[in-house]
This record gives sequence, C-alpha cells and structure tokens, in this order.
Amino acid sequence: MAQTLRCVDCNASYDLEMESAVCEQCGDTLEVTFERRFSPASDPREQFRWRLASYVPHERSGVWRFRELLPEFDAAQIVSLGEGNAPEFSARGTSAWSGLENLWIKHLGYNPTGSYKDAGMSVAVTRARAASARMVACASTGNTSASLATYAARAGMQAVVILPAAHVTDSKLAQAIDAGALTLTIQGDFDAAMRAVRELAHRGLVYLVNSLNPFRREGQKTVAFEILESRGWRAPDWIVLPGGNLGHCVSLAKGFSEAFEVGFADRMPRIALVQADGAAPFVRAWETHLPLEPVKAETFATAIRIGNPVSWRAALRALDATQGIAVAVSDAKIAEARAVLARDGLGCEPASAAALAGAAELRARNVIASGAEIVVVLTGDSLKDTAAITRYHNDGSARFANPVRPVKGDIASLERAIDGVVA
Ligand SMILES: *Cc1c(COP(=O)(O)O)cnc(C)c1O
Ligand SMILES: [Zn+2]
Repeated sequence: MAQTLRCVDCNASYDLEMESAVCEQCGDTLEVTFERRFSPASDPREQFRWRLASYVPHERSGVWRFRELLPEFDAAQIVSLGEGNAPEFSARGTSAWSGLENLWIKHLGYNPTGSYKDAGMSVAVTRARAASARMVACASTGNTSASLATYAARAGMQAVVILPAAHVTDSKLAQAIDAGALTLTIQGDFDAAMRAVRELAHRGLVYLVNSLNPFRREGQKTVAFEILESRGWRAPDWIVLPGGNLGHCVSLAKGFSEAFEVGFADRMPRIALVQADGAAPFVRAWETHLPLEPVKAETFATAIRIGNPVSWRAALRALDATQGIAVAVSDAKIAEARAVLARDGLGCEPASAAALAGAAELRARNVIASGAEIVVVLTGDSLKDTAAITRYHNDGSARFANPVRPVKGDIASLERAIDGVVA
C-alpha cells in the first residue's frame, strides 16, 4: 500500500503528492499512514538493539533504528546526525527535592543540536528532500530553528526560520545563522510567527516543518520507543513533559499507543503535560473542557512561551487516551527545579525544568504516588540559555544560588576561600 496522509479528525485522505500542512476539509492535523514492514510472526525489537552498535549515523540513530515503525524512505535520502538514543538517569538530589522515589530523567538535550526537536526534524527534512521541496521553513521560539537550520544544512537545502525578535536566546539564534538559515525576526510573538509561516506554506512558497508536520511527529514518536525499550518494553506509570505548541506531547502519545498496538508495550503510561503559569492556555482548556482560549504568553521559559498552541485538539485526545493530566507551575518553581537538576549534573534549559516542577507539584497533590515510576523528559540542553542560569545564581534569595566569588590570586586568599567549604 502506498503511503497516504489522513486527517486525524474527519478521516479525509490525501495523496502524498498533494501534501498540505493541514486537512483541507476541517483544518485539523494530518497523519502519515503506511504499512508496517514486519509481519506478526517476526519481532524487530532485537534488531532495534543491534543497530545501536553500528558506525553508520543513520543506522544507529534513535529514530531510524526503529524504521520498521516509520514511513519508508530510500536510505540515500535519509538526513541524520545520529539523533536520539538520549540517556536516562536516576538523580538523588532531584528525587529528594521532588519527593519522587522512583524518578528517571530522560535528557533529550543530548541530541545533536541540543534539543528534542532533532528526532522529528530528521524525518521532516528527509521528507522535504525526498519531495524535492525548494525551501524548508518554520516558526520557532529558538530550538526548532536551530534544529531545522542544522538538518537543512546537512541536506544541502535552504531553510527559512521566523522568530519573535524578543525572547529568543542568543545561543539558539547563533545556531540558526551559523548553519546558513535565512533568519527572519519579526516584531510579534511566537504565535504571530506561526501564523505568518503557515500563510507562506499555504501559498506554496515553503515546505512547513513545524510540529504539525506529520513526518516530524513520526520521528518524534520514537522517544516513546526508547523509553519503553530501556525498561524491557515495559511502560513506566507516568511520563512528564513540558508543553508549548504541544507537538511533543501528541507525538509521544502516538509512539506509546503504536507500541501498545503492535504488542511491544505491556500498557500505556499516563502523560502529565506541564505549562508555565503565564503560558497555560492548554491547562485551562483541559480543566474546563472548553475550546482553547488563546492567551498573551509570558514566562522566562522561552521555549514554552506560546499562547495559542497549534496542536491543542490533538493534545486533548492524547491526554484522554492515556488518562493524562495537565498542570501549570510558576516561573519561580521552574527556576528552582532547573537549579536542582543542575546540582545533580543534569543541567537543562528552563522549559525542560517545567516538567520536573510539574512532577513535584503532582506529587505534592498526591496525584502521583510516592513510589510510582516516573520518567521526566528534559527537552533542551543547559547551554541553550546561559543568561537564565546567571540570573538565578545572582539572585540573593534563590535557594540554590551559587554566585561567582572573585578573590585575589595569591595562595593565602585562595586558601581562605577554600577553607570550610567541605565540612
Ligand atoms: C519546543 C520545546 C518545548 C515545547 O514543545 P512543544 O512540542 O512545542 O510542546 C519544550 N522545551 C523545549 C526545550 C523546546 O525546545
Ligand atoms: Zn479533516
């Protein structure tokens, strides 16, 4: 059977050659449908493991080693930087701080461009290349543009990225311009950039790779396979992750439910989606069961500073399918959670730490039991936003503040500085 695109809501079906960003009938998101390339009699899970030992980047990639569960591409078309395969850690200080005894940290900041976006981008850019797209484009709070710019550079394609002029960190911008993307900043916020790039795509000028792109979701869903595989294809009780535009949440739920469907997973984990208080339109929609009301987003966690998330309908379905929950946390709690993770050697950018803050909040409310097995998904590397780190440590009232201490360079003053630091 050929691969097709199908609307997740009204089931309208589209030819791949006619790819558009959303369903032309109802405006909801599209999904790639394809035949899985293994029979019920064979189990490719051993192969998934074996491919990890390959020296070929796309063979061992945490996306492409699961290729039996992905749309099919010619190996020569694949654009890969060896993404995925991010490690999962236990963390003592973080466990103690959050009250979660059985806590695991899946750190997607270990990806090639430092954020979770790479897993999906590898497939989206592969698709763009296979479809001979002229230009690939996205709106971004920073990480999508860094990832797209880098993968487009690998593919020899031109990327266009549209960002809000304020509230994008220097390091994310640096990644985009350095890889050769046409980098356009606009006066509005992310939501305005999103509207603009959708219009460009609608006019057929660019191939859109924001998270509503169905191929990006295919790549992103593999994070679920990794989480299952690392515990012998057993699901944890909870997956906790931050949400902005909500594509990640939808993709993870898709991965878990497909793994369950083909009998690779014993059950579905519950998904907890965390937003910042100042950018929590989805949490409101989830709590009230009313259509999402866009808000003017405000939070220092710039990667989730989104007031009108594109994938809110699909995310509601994802939470329903997993008996999930949505919760909002304050910027102060996010900042503290970030510092706690860093003290365990697991630094991350602020948006990622929202997940831990949310997990701690759900533990405090007894929604998550103390012994439950939790995987907190960190989405971005700590060097993505060093300004936020410095600000925290120079804030005298911050609980884990560790400011730089200038001393004279002579041995006596250095000795005085060291004295008593370790009891
Ligand atoms: C993109 C991003 C998010 C939000 O993911 P969505 O799919 O938009 O919900 C969270 N954290 C980081 C670091 C990101 O880059
Ligand atoms: Zn539709």
